[in-house]
Amino acid sequence: MEPVTFRPPLYKQRYQFVKSLVETHKLKKVADVGCAECSLLQVLKFCGCVELLVGLDIDERALREKMHTLSPLPANYLQPDKRSLTVCLYQGSVTEKDPALLGFELITCIELVEHLEEAQLKTFPDTVLGFMAPGMVVISTPNVEFNPLLPGCTSFRHHDHKFEWSREQFQSWATDIAGRYNYTVEFSGVGGVPAGAKEVGFCTQIGVFTRNYRESEESIKRKMEAKRVYKTVFHVVYPSLQEEKYFQRAVINEALYYAHCMKIKLMRNLCSEDVEPESHLPETEQKPNATWSGFSKPYTPPQTEGDTTIEPFIQGDNIYIPLQRLFSIPSVMELCGSVDVLRKMVTGKAELSSDGSAVIFPVDLENDSEFS
Ligand code: SAM
Repeated sequence: MEPVTFRPPLYKQRYQFVKSLVETHKLKKVADVGCAECSLLQVLKFCGCVELLVGLDIDERALREKMHTLSPLPANYLQPDKRSLTVCLYQGSVTEKDPALLGFELITCIELVEHLEEAQLKTFPDTVLGFMAPGMVVISTPNVEFNPLLPGCTSFRHHDHKFEWSREQFQSWATDIAGRYNYTVEFSGVGGVPAGAKEVGFCTQIGVFTRNYRESEESIKRKMEAKRVYKTVFHVVYPSLQEEKYFQRAVINEALYYAHCMKIKLMRNLCSEDVEPESHLPETEQKPNATWSGFSKPYTPPQTEGDTTIEPFIQGDNIYIPLQRLFSIPSVMELCGSVDVLRKMVTGKAELSSDGSAVIFPVDLENDSEFS
């Protein structure tokens, strides 16, 4: 029989399994225990629902190796996300209780348990299911029954594995600890047997544990008092529109861009009325009269009493772009939610009319690059 190969590779299938779970349940707080070089965290960073991502590993060197890949990119600053995202990495053992891992919706232990010594494996359920007590836990581990199908696999799959379990061994261990800590466990896996081979189960066996109770505030508060033992290796808060400085910058960029476009359009329209000989040219090529010093026709602002129009207008030497008009642009509306928020963000960043209803630009043809 052909040696088994997995496409996508098995580790990617494990990450995809977790990603689907996170996206299906729209989980916000996720921790990966035994995260090594943070590969799963890098995948989960792109789940739009995740707001807190934590990695824990006993090996600080492994954490430091690729932790920079969890840092925000320039694009994250240029176009901050709506959601907030904090990423933290800790050095410490899964057998230690630290409040940093309390309050999670999901804790994943991917290919971790088989690396634990007997004494650590004994402590593991009390720390993860008893103390950390997240809403869900995913534990994956090799299925030893699959090993004969793997090329060159004569004993354990990795020299650091302390054991490898059959389906029966894993399921009996998982069912026992689930019962003890009031969780339900369902079994699944990734990497199926190839056609024609004996049914031995998945190459990677997975247990998905779901907590059966709601933890009381009292209990969480008590556990929060536990001593901090993990060492913080990395901590980053992504720029997000939840932060006022990024939100204001996004509103200013969006709203003033459109305000500027409206100003240009209005001036071009008006100038083209003055420059008859060129009016046959395409709009982009029409030049305004260089000696222009005002409007040939008196301009009547459309906002007369009872007039509800929100179109930009010119009054005196100023162009008025009503905030209502800017707010009617879908992207500005989506960002701000109300004209009052738009006004608040624009105040101090652009000149506003005395009643605060419009952004004002001076009409300055000579110094305006679009017209000079
Ligand atoms: N979960 C990672 C993945 O899927 O890409 C890799 C897991 S790697 C095979 C096992 C990891 O568990 C190692 O990085 C190791 O340092 C870590 N580990 C071993 N014992 C641990 C412990 N007691 N507490 C936390 N991490 C531990």
